[in-house]
Amino acid sequence: MSSDVTARTSADPVPGPRDPYPSGPAGDEPGFHDVSRETGPDPADALVDDTPIARAARQAVETMGRAAEGLPRPAETRVMVVANQKGGVGKTTSTVNLAAALAMHGARVLVVDLDPQGNASTALGIDHHASVPSIYDVLVEGKDLAEVVQPVVDVEGLFCAPATIDLAGAEIELVSLVARESRLQRAINAYEQPLDYILIDCPPSLGLLTVNALVAGREVVIPIQCEYYALEGLGQLLRNVELVRGHLNPHLHVSTILLTMYDARTRLASQVAQEVRDHFPAEVLNTSIPRSVRISEAPSYGQTVMTYDPGSTGALSYLEAAREIALRGIAAEAKGA
Ligand code: ADP
Ligand code: MG
Repeated sequence: MSSDVTARTSADPVPGPRDPYPSGPAGDEPGFHDVSRETGPDPADALVDDTPIARAARQAVETMGRAAEGLPRPAETRVMVVANQKGGVGKTTSTVNLAAALAMHGARVLVVDLDPQGNASTALGIDHHASVPSIYDVLVEGKDLAEVVQPVVDVEGLFCAPATIDLAGAEIELVSLVARESRLQRAINAYEQPLDYILIDCPPSLGLLTVNALVAGREVVIPIQCEYYALEGLGQLLRNVELVRGHLNPHLHVSTILLTMYDARTRLASQVAQEVRDHFPAEVLNTSIPRSVRISEAPSYGQTVMTYDPGSTGALSYLEAAREIALRGIAAEAKGA
């Protein structure tokens, strides 16, 4: 942990601008204000404990309080495909943490793990050894989704359709099956439990598994890691979205881009973030997800960071991102989008 630049310090839980000891030239970062919505110190703070820890604790309480208040729920189930054919950009991390945050806001949420690695299942503490009924059985054997969905123990209202290693063969097995692109869509349409959100965690490829997700979904969520090659390959993903929209699913659109592993201390990260915002002004969430050790530690405990360390910057920023997603959805509904 100590070799990691994001190793926790006493100032770590304080989101960017409230950090009194910034460790780099961070003040000019675009989106830097995003995690915390407040700028100047509250005059009342002069009367109370003003240490970074105390302020972080107050902010955590405030944010968790907002979570408990809940958020408006969508009129219809929002099926969101978390995709980017690059590996390691934060698809799985964003899927499970946004899902947990939305559920903590009072929504009913299903995570569909569509990656043979089963990382989303692991992070949600869901058993996914080879004999567990899984999304493979749904896609290849035609099993009902209801037969494989498991509740997530730690978070009320959160469910998971796990992936087992069998799914590694599905990409090839699907080729010879009827309606090979729309098997997930069929399963989701037949699922009768009331849900506010379905988040589909895609594998790092644009094969038939991802195509199944794009056919089943309405919205595409693209996590982008703020690093040098961030935009490479994005064109290919966007072309695939266009192809699926043109031929198989006219409702599909990229609704959300989430900047992940944002390190406010590097100029490169802020340049990449700015570039992405310039290209996709409407889609990029104001909130970006900082690089955080707590986020990367959580899966090894079978947890999301939302339960592993609810007061951490990582948890607070996912909560804020989830809030934006929920509110943008309501705004889009109002516009009839
Ligand atoms: P993908 O699903 O796109 O392959 P992951 O979500 O598995 O990417 O993330 C890749 C790695 O980066 C994982 O080890 C994860 O724990 C770590 N990671 C993701 N987001 C963050 C973050 N904000 N801060 C620190 N580590 C992160
Ligand atoms: Mg993944």
